[in-house]
Amino acid sequence: MPELPEVETIRLQLEKYLKGHKIENVQVNVPKIFSGNPKDLVGAKIKDVRRFAKVLSIDLSNGFSIVIHIKLTGQLIYRGPNLPHSAQGSAGLSKKVVGGIPGPHTHVIFKLDKGGFLYYNDVRRFGWIKVIKTDEVEKTGFIGKLGPEPFKDLTLNIFESVLSKTSRAVKVVLMDQAKIGGVGNIYANDALWLAGVNPSKQAKKLRNEEIKSLYDAIHKVLKDGLKYGGASELAFVTPDGKEGEYQEHTLVYGHEGEPCDRCHKSKIQKYFLSGRGTYFCPNCQKT
Ligand SMILES: [Zn+2]
Repeated sequence: MPELPEVETIRLQLEKYLKGHKIENVQVNVPKIFSGNPKDLVGAKIKDVRRFAKVLSIDLSNGFSIVIHIKLTGQLIYRGPNLPHSAQGSAGLSKKVVGGIPGPHTHVIFKLDKGGFLYYNDVRRFGWIKVIKTDEVEKTGFIGKLGPEPFKDLTLNIFESVLSKTSRAVKVVLMDQAKIGGVGNIYANDALWLAGVNPSKQAKKLRNEEIKSLYDAIHKVLKDGLKYGGASELAFVTPDGKEGEYQEHTLVYGHEGEPCDRCHKSKIQKYFLSGRGTYFCPNCQKT
């Protein structure tokens, strides 16, 4: 599932491409994905694009916002005059945009002024789009329950306190959105390896120096994720229709059976922890 770097990469592009556009019409092909009244969006100008962990909020000039969670396979693709080469239709799109735009997996189409379009594609249909008042965005169920976020309000003290309160495996806590917002499986695996912490270790048993290394490692891997424009493992594409590159730079995620880059002694092993693929070096992440 797209994590903080992927959703932030989407946000940065949407901000660049959508700001100033006016919404002329909204076509909803799959009603279960969309809630709220599409008519509340018509005629409004796009003012701002914000991100809360993995959730986006497109804020409009008329006091409404479009809140979007792309979940596993959602894609937001822009076509229009603000693209560098003003690409139209499906030209130049990544193959991950299955069926093209508009296509069989295009469930919502925002028609913008000046010939612009924002398409929402989603093969698995787990994602959702909600129209709500802008001043209610931060109070809505999902966003209101998010834990503190790296680069925002997750201080080292808060991180320590979150970990000290639970005997769950540290990796499971890192990925729990109610405890820490924005970190998912890829970056949790890489951060734990970088910090030399065993993914199954009980969170409350981490020593102070391990907590500090893990805190720094989380920020380092998320920053690298952003630098490479996110990881296009499943369906992730950016609004210009291109893929991210972090999947080619992961530290341990996806490297099962390969020699560990740090100790050069052990091979990376994979097991499942709470149902998620977990990669680690048995030598560097003993405890
Ligand atoms: Zn190692």
